[in-house]
Amino acid sequence: NADTAMYQAKEHGRNNFQFFFPEMNIALAKKMMLEAGLRTALDNNEFQLHYQPQYDHEKIVGLEALIRWQHPVYGIVSPLDFIPLAEETGLINPIGQWVLEKACQQCMEWQQQGLPPVRLAVNLSMRQLQDKHLVTMVQQTLQKTGLSPAYLELEITESIAMHRLDTVIPRLQALQDMGIHISIDDFGTGYSSLSCLQSLPINSLKIDQSFMRNMSTNTSNTSIVSAIAAMAHSLSLSLVAEGVETEAQLEFLRSLGCSTFQGYYFSKPISATECEWLLANNAAKIG
Ligand code: C2E
Ligand code: MG
Ligand code: MG
Ligand code: MG
Repeated sequence: NADTAMYQAKEHGRNNFQFFFPEMNIALAKKMMLEAGLRTALDNNEFQLHYQPQYDHEKIVGLEALIRWQHPVYGIVSPLDFIPLAEETGLINPIGQWVLEKACQQCMEWQQQGLPPVRLAVNLSMRQLQDKHLVTMVQQTLQKTGLSPAYLELEITESIAMHRLDTVIPRLQALQDMGIHISIDDFGTGYSSLSCLQSLPINSLKIDQSFMRNMSTNTSNTSIVSAIAAMAHSLSLSLVAEGVETEAQLEFLRSLGCSTFQGYYFSKPISATECEWLLANNAAKIG
């Protein structure tokens, strides 16, 4: 079989040398199949949003919308596998638009049901942030769904935010001026300088979950988290910890002045139905 592949590759000339390696064939075939599926996924209603609550002490103060793809053959495909592909193919624009609209619609619906209003965070990808129609698209989505911008948060990863600052800054500024909350996701992994950070129109930092691992034994992770907390404090940014899985992590984060938490310790990402129940329960606790 490999011999046939090699023979065919040779037949097709030198440019096909990569097909000599069967593992590449498999990776490429898988990618092509995923890509084909991705092109029809929106029309076939294969996407869903899950929501992961963010807590202060015991009450929900926010939600993060996380996309799920129910592939008809492969089952659930992780966003870590298909978001990069969607980025590469440009499919992220319609998919991202769907996510934003669905999230805003859902948030508005919960408010109309009388559930306690919480802010909903939506992840933006590099390509979306580079799209010159982004601000208009967000504005139109808020208008269409009736959601107040005060309840929308947009998350941008650190590496994306630091890329092409000349176009990113005015775009983020326009979104922030509308009243939208801007946060830097996966913070601490992108080596941004304090001065760069200071120039960005943002409201909060989300500490990357990789720093939560072994916090009690890994002293470098502990120092990084302390440094990030100090940075957020000095820039007057709010601080969110993600990937909080244990009580010990929570206690340590609290001691650093962090007051918003997201992670399996509190809740995994859950379906809209489960979320509705949780929000209703949240209201009962306060009242
Ligand atoms: P993210 O935005 O940093 O989202 C947090 C990820 O961490 C989620 O993975 C969530 O399920 C996971 N997580 C939350 N708490 C814990 C915890 O305590 N422990 C561990 N081990 N993991 C935890 P998920 O849903 O698989 O999403 C992965 C990434 O895919 C997201 O990372 C985000 O970058 C991207 N993504 C997800 N939905 C969207 C979307 O609608 N648009 C775009 N552009 N990207 C998305
Ligand atoms: Mg995020
Ligand atoms: Mg993150
Ligand atoms: Mg991440």
